[in-house]
Amino acid sequence: MSIATLESYIRCVPDFPKQGILFRDITPLLNQQLPATIDALANLLTDEEWSTIDAIVGIESRGFIFASALAYAKNKGFLVVRKPNKLPPPVHQVSYDLEYGQDRLEISSQFQPQRVLIVDDVLATGGTLNAACQLCSLAGHDIQQTMTLINLADLNQFLWQGRKPRTLFSYGA
Ligand code: IMP
Repeated sequence: MSIATLESYIRCVPDFPKQGILFRDITPLLNQQLPATIDALANLLTDEEWSTIDAIVGIESRGFIFASALAYAKNKGFLVVRKPNKLPPPVHQVSYDLEYGQDRLEISSQFQPQRVLIVDDVLATGGTLNAACQLCSLAGHDIQQTMTLINLADLNQFLWQGRKPRTLFSYGA
């Protein structure tokens, strides 16, 4: 299936969740084309690149969908980056800026260092993915690649070490 066909299952919703925001709704894609989407994401890395990855890190909550399916498809481990106070100790924590205020993400520090691919659904400013990269780094993991289903490139501000994620659908810039 072509990328353009898959893209047609993403619904653009103006003024959600706030006035002036064009929200990309991926639920029609999940409902109709999840296997083809996972195959397309898996194809963003070569076999050689996949061979350098031990585990896939999913960012709560929509990142879990793609990261866990990719972990199954490519026979890799799965790690979670979660919202505050969900993981039992010991954890690493990172706070990061939102448009208004701050948020925090956490990762377990109980695991040995692994070579990881970090996955989320949407890259906007990059704040969330950047925080996940900081957490993986704190936990001693070696970040091989990052990946998002969608990149809203015009909004990008924070890219970990200036690295762009592998992306299926890119808008703007
Ligand atoms: P960032 O931290 O500004 O890059 O925002 C990325 C986070 O916000 C991701 O975890 C997404 O789940 C969420 N997000 C931002 N824009 C959208 C959107 O248009 N659709 C769905 N989720 C979005």
